[in-house]
Amino acid sequence: AENKQTMGFQAEVKQLLQLMIHSLYSNKEIFLRELVSNASDAADKLRFEAINNDALYGNDHEVKIRVAFDKDARTITISDNGIGMSREEAISHLGTIAKSGTKEFFGKLSGDQQKDAALIGQFGVGFYSGFIVADRITVESRRAGLDASEGVRWESAGEGDYSVEQIEKAGRGTDIILHLRDGEEELLNEWKLKSIIRKYSDHISLPIQMMKEGSDELETINQASALWARSKNEITPEQYEEFYKHVSHDFGAPLTYTHNRVEGRSEYTQLLYIPAKAPFDLWDRNKRGGIKLYVKRVFIMDDAEQLMPTYLRFVKGVIDSADLPLNVSREILQESRDVKAIREGSTKRVLGMLEELANADEQEKKDKYATFWTEFGQVLKEGIGEDFANKERLSKLLRFASTHNDSDVQDVSLEAYVGRMKEGQDKIFYVTADSYAAAKNSPHLEIFRKKGVEVLLLTDRVDEWMLSFMHDFEGKELHSVAKGGLDLGAMEDEAEKKEHAETETQYQDLVGKMKEALADKAKEVRVTFRLTDSPACLVADENELSGNLLRMLKAAGQ
Ligand code: ADP
Ligand code: MG
Repeated sequence: AENKQTMGFQAEVKQLLQLMIHSLYSNKEIFLRELVSNASDAADKLRFEAINNDALYGNDHEVKIRVAFDKDARTITISDNGIGMSREEAISHLGTIAKSGTKEFFGKLSGDQQKDAALIGQFGVGFYSGFIVADRITVESRRAGLDASEGVRWESAGEGDYSVEQIEKAGRGTDIILHLRDGEEELLNEWKLKSIIRKYSDHISLPIQMMKEGSDELETINQASALWARSKNEITPEQYEEFYKHVSHDFGAPLTYTHNRVEGRSEYTQLLYIPAKAPFDLWDRNKRGGIKLYVKRVFIMDDAEQLMPTYLRFVKGVIDSADLPLNVSREILQESRDVKAIREGSTKRVLGMLEELANADEQEKKDKYATFWTEFGQVLKEGIGEDFANKERLSKLLRFASTHNDSDVQDVSLEAYVGRMKEGQDKIFYVTADSYAAAKNSPHLEIFRKKGVEVLLLTDRVDEWMLSFMHDFEGKELHSVAKGGLDLGAMEDEAEKKEHAETETQYQDLVGKMKEALADKAKEVRVTFRLTDSPACLVADENELSGNLLRMLKAAGQ
């Protein structure tokens, strides 16, 4: 056609396509899950836009997904009558990857197929996974509300480019037509397709239909009810896992989840997951994802940030409210008391889920908490400064490296530390530094080693900030070994005290001279007993910023 135009893929798309076809081949059935998942998202978007514009439905109110195959043409077609795509949308949504961190992600790929497969899974491949089994994909779409003449045909062989042209399309929505590669004939089979759909897409809340072979009857393959609205004992672990992959766009299994119907002043259902891997854009404040908000099963928005505090931004899932109005906007969410109740309730659930792992006796759960801490511990620490109401629960979930272990693994809780405190010790000691090696070799630790007193080694960027909100734990002051005078209190015996006093007198003159010499550099010079091997060290004043924080502020240009 004369309006047909050929365009090049974004460089990352080309790279992704090549890698994916090879590295995900052993898991090729997932293409159907991804395409059905997109069809379901498209239906959600239509229902949402139609809340204020019922005309979008035209005379076609029954939103559904259809899967068909044609043995002679060697095609599989996934159709939906959801929101559809305009020509511009097809170009931007199917020709580029709209994810932050895409460049960094591709920088991480090693060329080792197995490792890359795991990474790609984590990145999520979505629509492009069709190319695992197809050597050509044709997409025919028409956006809801546009004229039949304003359809678009997008087509690509999954190499360097794709074409787009305007077409006539009778109904709204999207048909994805996969032209199968040689050797993929086994997919042209009713039983095979049904079993893949049941395995991966049973949780989809719209009907997924197929024609019964040899008849003209449509059959619904899945349960076609919102998974979160079903009762817990009717949902298998596999279904929970597949639903997670659908809402999170993650390929891997979640670490853990919680599913509850909350009744009372505010009525809602929550199905919340903790991922096993941090996303690439964990530190990107504009990232999408998180929690999907539904109101009485109608999708309202992605990433409803009001529903979860920022420090729990890694939590994925669905919250379905029975109280909020369907036309709720982000502005209304900000002020709603129902939303506040939902956020508080959901925060408590997430903390409960973490406590269950953290306090478990089973090794499997303990390992899960260790994984959680490695992936998200630094984010959770933000909660100490952000969530005053839950500060105590949060402080029990913290894990640190410590002189008790000879390793940089952060696995010591404050409770464990307190349990090991020496007789007469009344403080929790810590040192901050910008690396584990620097912390471990700090001269400030010498006296603590000698006395066998444990010191926490804090090396995350967020630690200093967190400590400014946490002065004690269970009545025990948190005390930097690098700050102020060192009062080991009752841990020092009388003989030591006497000896120290004598030494101080002995060096009085020297100290006086050093004070004069360093008058403009040091506020105070004193004889110290905190060192055993090093001749001298710098300490910060009790009320001053620590050396490490000063270095950080300087590095940040302050
Ligand atoms: P994701 O689903 O994670 O956004 P995909 O690669 O699966 O990524 O899909 C890319 C985009 O293409 C979607 O976000 C959507 O905008 C568009 N898209 C894909 N399939 C459909 C469809 N069936 N109907 C409407 N839009 C679609
Ligand atoms: Mg998708």
